Amino acid sequence: MNLRQDIRTLDIKTLEEKLAQAGEPKFRARQIHEWLWKKSARSFSEMTNLSKPLREKLEGTFFLHPVSENIVQKSKDGTVKLGMRLHDNRLIEGVMIPDEDRSTACVSSQVGCSLACTFCATGFLKRERNLDAGEIYDQVVLLNKYAIEHNGKPLTNIVYMGMGEPLLNYDNVMQSIRYITSPDGLNMAQKRITVSTSGIAKGIKRLTDEGMKFNLALSLHAATNEKRDKIMDINRSNTLEDVIEALNYFYNKTGNKVTFEYILFDKFNDSLEDAEHLISLYHQVPAFINIIEYNNVEGVELKKAKRETRDAFVAYLKKRNVQVAVRRSRGKDIDAACGQLANKNG
Ligand code: SAH
Ligand code: SF4
Repeated sequence: MNLRQDIRTLDIKTLEEKLAQAGEPKFRARQIHEWLWKKSARSFSEMTNLSKPLREKLEGTFFLHPVSENIVQKSKDGTVKLGMRLHDNRLIEGVMIPDEDRSTACVSSQVGCSLACTFCATGFLKRERNLDAGEIYDQVVLLNKYAIEHNGKPLTNIVYMGMGEPLLNYDNVMQSIRYITSPDGLNMAQKRITVSTSGIAKGIKRLTDEGMKFNLALSLHAATNEKRDKIMDINRSNTLEDVIEALNYFYNKTGNKVTFEYILFDKFNDSLEDAEHLISLYHQVPAFINIIEYNNVEGVELKKAKRETRDAFVAYLKKRNVQVAVRRSRGKDIDAACGQLANKNG
């Protein structure tokens, strides 16, 4: 049995107390904290401004288990997919998406996902466990290296759109955002972060009350309960009405518009009648709409909409003054695009 404690789950106050009990001065806690977060140390032995006996003492009392790189794949379009190994040998994936003016990291929040949306490769893996805040943070640190190496600029944006449902790992996701945005951590701006959710109404309300300033995206994909039930099981317990109510709560408190993500599926949700339903939802809460191209997933019957159908759908929305954008898919050749993360090469 491992009685040691994960040092990265301790806040600085607790660390100070623990060190005081061991007869160490207070400032040591700050030094250690800095090593853990700002300098992303991967072991106690790296903490060279601490004495060797103290490092050994730390080693005996705590553990530090960083995420390590497993496989790197690079797409024709410059997208980098990083397969990573956790201390318990489980695998996750994260993606770095380069652009002219930005480098975006797409990070995972869980190993697998419990929600099993019918179109998503991650949903075919069962949820094995939540990632802790340090493991989410590590993905950002590792992907940042590839942003600098392959895109000449550090990460500018982070999206929680990798494996898993972030709001079902609520505490760790929030804690990771706190560290990513803290001056004691990576010091990134909260407004550069987007959390994507399949629509957990309670979680949306809860995060509103945190008073943070990150963006929220809803994976909508169908604009009536009847259709949404068919592809996203979560809709049965969190109906569109529940979710819209939560999103209005979010908007009224933060003033932030949400983004509706809408994958166009051939002959499922791509008719002009579907567009009407979408417009009706759009009028119920201030939002932007992102139309997403479906990335094929083996074994899924749904197919991506035809290009002409998509263009007609988007033109229809635009004519009705809807704020809509079409999102290109990136990294498809290496299964790094949205919904394709499934540890295939693990
Ligand atoms: N669980 C969260 C976040 C991860 S999924 C959520 O569902 O929002 C990231 C995004 O990829 C979601 O919008 C999801 O619906 C979308 N997605 C899933 N499978 C996809 C696929 N095969 N093609 C395109 N997008 C997909
Ligand atoms: Fe999970 Fe999101 Fe995939 Fe649905 S779309 S199975 S919630 S990761």
